[in-house]
Order: sequence, then structure tokens, then C-alpha cells
Amino acid sequence: MKSIILITAICFSAIVNAQTHKCHTYELMQHQESLTPGYLNAVNESFDRAKMIQSQDRSTVHQINVVVHIVYNQPEENLADSVVFDQIARLNEDFRRLNADTTNLRDTFNTIVGDSFIEFQLATIDPQGNPTNGITRTQTTETSFIDFSQFPAEGVKSTADGGIDPWDQEHYLNIWVCNMSFAGTPFLLGYATPPNNLPHWPPGSADNMSDGVVIEYEAFGSNNPNTLDLGSGPVTVLGRTCVHEIGHYLGLRHIWGDGDCTEQDGIDDTPNALDQSNQDCDTTKNTCTDAIPVLGDLPDMVENYMDYSSEECQNSFTQGQIDLMRSIIENERVGLISPNPASLGTETELSFSVFPNPTNGSSIIKTNLIEPVQFELISETGAILRTEMVQSSIEIHDLKPGVYFVRMSTENNSNTQKLVVL
Ligand SMILES: [Zn+2]
Repeated sequence: MKSIILITAICFSAIVNAQTHKCHTYELMQHQESLTPGYLNAVNESFDRAKMIQSQDRSTVHQINVVVHIVYNQPEENLADSVVFDQIARLNEDFRRLNADTTNLRDTFNTIVGDSFIEFQLATIDPQGNPTNGITRTQTTETSFIDFSQFPAEGVKSTADGGIDPWDQEHYLNIWVCNMSFAGTPFLLGYATPPNNLPHWPPGSADNMSDGVVIEYEAFGSNNPNTLDLGSGPVTVLGRTCVHEIGHYLGLRHIWGDGDCTEQDGIDDTPNALDQSNQDCDTTKNTCTDAIPVLGDLPDMVENYMDYSSEECQNSFTQGQIDLMRSIIENERVGLISPNPASLGTETELSFSVFPNPTNGSSIIKTNLIEPVQFELISETGAILRTEMVQSSIEIHDLKPGVYFVRMSTENNSNTQKLVVL
């Protein structure tokens, strides 16, 4: 027994040392295949179908409601709301191609990248229909959720196992943030479930894993006070582990196709690569010959969010990747952009969204009512800074950093939300 444990430990530490384990989604899919033969075929069919359908309208903004589950044992794992807000802001920058470092993209890729018109907002209504800030906090006795009997960290998705049960996975993107260390080092930075709700899915295949995204706590947000060290010194964290994992959640694969030059990621405009870039930003590599429409052969694209490059050189999704993600949202994951049952029956009640929030100074506020609504912008100290009647939506600009409150009122109803300007 002892020798078995020793061998197992050596095996796992060898894995840890061999690569940085940026993500475990492909391994998770292989694990599912071993539990439910046919799983990989079903994922492939989902993937091919999404590619064929294509997004109907590429400029409609799809807003996805997010719940972030902070599951902590140590105080430093209990990330502040400000880190969650920052991660949501980073998601919106990167998916809308508003990130400042797009200027670092090599010119050769300029014509194949784009704005996905996909946005994320913390949920304002929980599955029971109650107001929420979209963040749950759970204290746990688990010091790490890495558990090789529940591959790789599924326990965090279960209240019975020391984590927290998901919210309605059809209507919320669930993101769990927790400790996934092994032998003192993060075992992996994140993993995600690809879409799996097609009618021809093998019965019960989704029983073995719970839908959503899991992120190592030091790799979440770009203002995280913790240091991420993969074993060879601190690495820069810009919130892009979450961008990468949501890419998987919306159907994307690694751009090297999880194999050599013969393996594809299924996207026509991403250059193939012999293997993943290993936390580097090497722009001299061109490991496979591509046949990309119009452009032909391109170098390995370390700028792509779906590579294993350093977060500092990632800055882009390609048009092909965007088409696939939008198609998944409009089909396999359409519940994310459909009316949430939790809010049904309240259509005559006033509700509104503030987006983006947090913001860099500009937001748009939309109400659910067609009748005019009183809008008020209130300072942290309670001073009314602006007030007017608005018809369904209003834009606000040039706000200075700080905390504000947006109050919307009708004759019978009033709601207030906090607005954070970074
Ligand atoms: Zn990945």
C-alpha cells in the first residue's frame, strides 16, 4: 500500500513539474469518455453543429448572467468583492476587444481577430427570485479541492462535499473560485465543462460533472492580492485564466488542438501549432504549416486566449472562435440569454441593469418597463448628482472613480443598485 501511494505521489509531482497545468479541460473530457463512452463523440458533434449553424447576427450583444462562488478555507482565499468586480470587468474588456494590449497583436493577425459582442454581468436575481450581488461565499474545511477520486476538483461544486451547489446552470454561468493546490503548488489554474446538452447526448453523461467553470483563487482577477507561483517564481495574473476557461465553456478548444500538427482545433482561422506554448511569448515560432483562407500560413498565435502562453501576451479571439462561441450561446446554451424563470411573474415590477458595472466611467442603464422611469444618480454620501425621467434606457459618461448609487423609481416602485467606477 505504501509503495502504491509513493508511486502515485511521484506520478502527480512529475505531472506538476512537467507543465504548468494552465487548464484541465481536455483531460476532463478524456476522463468523461472513460466514464461514459461516447462523450467525446457527442462533444465533437456539438462542436461541428455549432460551426455549421454560425451566429445569425454577429453584432447583437449577448449578456450572460454570472454567479461567482468564493469557497475558502484560509482568509486570503476569501477574495474581496473588488477582485470579483475586476474579473468581470476584465472579461468584458477581453471579450469586447476593449483591452488596451490589443496593440501588441502582430499585424499579420489583424484581419482575423474581433469583438465577440459577448458580455458578462453579475446576477442581480438569485434562483429564488431574491436580489443578489451575484457572489456567494462559503467557508469550508477543505484545504484544497484537488481530489483524484473526484476529478479534478468537482467537490467544490457540491455543498455535501464542502463546496456549494450550483445555481440553475441553464440560466447562470457558475464560476467557482477555490484552492486547487497539490503539494503546496497550484495543481491547475482552471477547468471548464464544454456544452453538453444536445438531445443525442448519452443519457446520464452530465451526471458525472457539474456544468460551469472552476478557477484557482490566486489566478482570479487582475487586482488579486495573492501571488501566483507555479513553482518557478511569480507569474503575472491579468484575469485571463477565466477568459480562457469561459472560452472552453462556450465550446472553444486549445489552438494547438491538444495534439501535434495533424490535430486541429476545428476553427479555420486559428493557426495550428505543434504543441502549447508553455507560459512563454515566443513570436518566432511557426511549428505547423497552415492553409488559412486568404492568409495561408501564419506563425503560432501566442496572442490567442486559447493558447497556454503567458497572460501578458494573450489579447485576442479570432473571428472563427467568436462565431463558434456565439453559435453555442444561441443554441446549446440559449438558456443563458433567455428569460430567467426566477424573474418571471415580476415583469410588472421595476427592475433594471447597469452595464458595465464596475465601469471605467461610462455605463448604460436599462429598465424592464416601457413606461417612463425616474432616474437618479446618487453619490456615496447621499447627494443626488443627476435626475431625469428616462424611457427604457439612459447612458451615463465621464464619472470619476468612486462608488455611486443608481435609483430608478415609478409611482409605486423603487430600486437601487450600487455602481462602482474604477
Ligand atoms: Zn484550456
